[in-house]
Amino acid sequence: MFTAFLIKYAEIAIKGKNRHLFEDALIHQIKFALKKCEGKFLITKTQGRIYVEAQGEFDYEDTIGQLQHVFGIVGICPMIYVEDEGFDRLCETIVRYVGDVYPDRHKTFKVHCRRARKNYPKESMEVNADLGEVLLNAYPELSVDVHEPEILLNVEIREKIYIYSEVIPGPGGMPVGTGGKAMLLLSGGIDSPVAGYMIAKRGVKIDAVYFHAPPYTSERAKQKVEDLARLISKYTGPIYLHVINFTDIQLYIHEKCPHEELTIIMRRYMMRIAEHIADETECLGLVTGESIGQVASQTMGSLIATNEVCHLPVYRPLIGFDKEEIVTSAKRIGTFETSILPYEDCCTIFVAKHPVTKPNVNIIRRHEKNLDEKIEEMVKTALETDELIVVQ
Ligand code: ATP
Ligand code: MG
Repeated sequence: MFTAFLIKYAEIAIKGKNRHLFEDALIHQIKFALKKCEGKFLITKTQGRIYVEAQGEFDYEDTIGQLQHVFGIVGICPMIYVEDEGFDRLCETIVRYVGDVYPDRHKTFKVHCRRARKNYPKESMEVNADLGEVLLNAYPELSVDVHEPEILLNVEIREKIYIYSEVIPGPGGMPVGTGGKAMLLLSGGIDSPVAGYMIAKRGVKIDAVYFHAPPYTSERAKQKVEDLARLISKYTGPIYLHVINFTDIQLYIHEKCPHEELTIIMRRYMMRIAEHIADETECLGLVTGESIGQVASQTMGSLIATNEVCHLPVYRPLIGFDKEEIVTSAKRIGTFETSILPYEDCCTIFVAKHPVTKPNVNIIRRHEKNLDEKIEEMVKTALETDELIVVQ
């Protein structure tokens, strides 16, 4: 029965002069998301509201599902609209609407009219009272509650008349593209996809880099990372995924550096390489899935060591999250099932039995000197053989 949606977007509305920029970005993202659904849609912006109107046949569930992936949308209100053919017709329409949408009408309600078209013959208050009365007559089981109604019937009088009462939650956040771009270090684990989701939710476009170490990490592990990127791209739009062959660097570190420092030194090279690509692709920050104390390489002391090799800010949106909380988020956004597939990731083969938890940065730097002979060349080769996959 619904043929249109009112899109609610709270945070954007407070952005002052930037408001229209944000609205345009949101409309752009909505258009992009709806391309994936069956049907044609007209998207309009009038007086600070965004409407999506289906042009003919469309798949209701699919449309809602797509809109729920668009950051910036706080609520999706399915609407019906009718031509203004007199007040009696409006009364019939609203009675039919309540009958259809609420099979059980033992509920409280309130009518809330907004008149965008001031030449409408009735004032808003009058419309509220009259429609309220009509509904009470049609459905005596309804009762009025003007403070906290269970059903808030919105009636918007514009060129046409729109009626809606349900609000389906959207993902919130800001439209992707309004906050610049960041480079996500995406591994096959549970954490980094959630971290990417969270930064994208703040309006940031995401590119990603994965460090692949064949034959120690399999093609399936790489495929899994690509699949994870595809799952987050439902929210973020297309993701440029850089696959860096990390094998030689990893083996070289393994050969030249103390084993309890392997992970930290490897992480430092990952950050350096990620930052290099970030600089070349106009990313304004790096994003990782780290959380304090989760593993030895994520203690505060270890984070000093990984952090100091970059000049760009490193965003770690999961920093204060417990694993449980991250798992809950991963399930909600749909990446969990893929993340737990049992393909080894970069580190498992190269992990030390007793990794340092309080690395001394000076000592780490000194040990990295053991790599001087070949590492620069290896990093250069790794960057030159960067495999770019556009994931969408
Ligand atoms: P995740 O669940 O994201 O794999 P993790 O708990 O396994 O994280 P680590 O392996 O210590 O943690 O990695 C910390 C962060 O470093 C990851 O969240 C990710 O951002 C980045 N990272 C680790 N390995 C890789 C890799 N092979 N390619 C790209 N980024 C990586
Ligand atoms: Mg990992």
